[in-house]
Amino acid sequence: MTEEIRHDWSLVELREIHDMPLLELVFRAAAVHRRHHDPREMQVSKLISIKTGACPEDCAYCAQSSRYSTGVAPEKLMDKARVLEIAGAAKEAGVSRVCLGAAWRSVRDGESFDRVLDMVRSVTDMGLEVCCTLGMLSESQARRLEDAGLYAYNHNLDSSAEFYETIITTRTHADRIETIGRVRQTSVTLCSGGIIGLGESVEDRLKMLQTLASIRPQPESVPINVLSKVPGTPMAGNADVPDWDVVRMIATARIVMPGADVRLTAGRARLSAAVQALCFLAGANSIFSSETEFMLTKAVPSPSYEADHALMSELGLRYREPFARREAGGGGESCEAGREASGGDARPAAVAAT
Ligand code: SAM
Ligand code: SF4
Repeated sequence: MTEEIRHDWSLVELREIHDMPLLELVFRAAAVHRRHHDPREMQVSKLISIKTGACPEDCAYCAQSSRYSTGVAPEKLMDKARVLEIAGAAKEAGVSRVCLGAAWRSVRDGESFDRVLDMVRSVTDMGLEVCCTLGMLSESQARRLEDAGLYAYNHNLDSSAEFYETIITTRTHADRIETIGRVRQTSVTLCSGGIIGLGESVEDRLKMLQTLASIRPQPESVPINVLSKVPGTPMAGNADVPDWDVVRMIATARIVMPGADVRLTAGRARLSAAVQALCFLAGANSIFSSETEFMLTKAVPSPSYEADHALMSELGLRYREPFARREAGGGGESCEAGREASGGDARPAAVAAT
């Protein structure tokens, strides 16, 4: 099952894959997808903003940065009771993973983090996978999340290392790699991907995939976000990403990371059902859905539970059960095998080699 998982893709190879005739690319990606995944299964997540806005970072796309006036009202850390209420409704709607997102630069030890750990334990006890996306982590914080039973940690690379510095100046691409390496030292699965539509080149997009694919083991989840243009942010006036670029990115991610859940995440609300269906055929097997029409904040739209139920049944897709991947043996490389192969250095080879 892992015969196609490589960590040494060259940019020339990635470009050849990405630029091949579109339907040829979709066909090839669909074939890889079917060899590694049940093509009728969709993993569905619900994102909960447990601490909203007033983030000190300057991510040029983000509605939650305190640097931009986006109209997103800052909110303190959410009460656990409210988190459990949203998680319960999500479970009813077929969601298998709840993602707790906090607009933090990094985690600080203390009462807030203790409360987040308590949320992780309680939502896990509901029979749901829990993901956290809290910013940068120390080794001990990664361990504490593992001990709390966290299923996944999201920490996106967002783009190539070169382009990254043009969209975020308050931290570095290397900082992201460091946290990814710390997550990889635990049994928590890794969710890491990026955004297209920031003004990056195709080369930047492929460099991001190259770095992600070089992580040992490869990320278990790879979110491909399409920029949701938030008024008030520097990216508000960017050109729309052509639909075919989205399909190409999904298909290329699928081919170079066969065992990962490739996630069609932010920006999906803007895509027609037909384009979404082509992305699913090309290997996207994970989405966010929501009880409102928003993803994390009112600035980023999301398809609703109802709309997604209608789309999934139209397409003959069924919702994956929580922990089904773990029970089925993972679908990709095992963490142990991946770490062994890298001699214990889980950072992307493209970085570890520097
Ligand atoms: N504060 C955490 C961090 O920076 O890692 C979590 C941020 S957010 C929940 C997780 C991801 O959503 C970001 O890393 C980015 O890739 C994506 N994202 C945020 N705003 C977006 C937007 N306006 N359009 C598309 N993707 C976006
Ligand atoms: Fe803050 Fe994360 Fe938004 Fe960046 S992406 S501004 S770190 S909430």
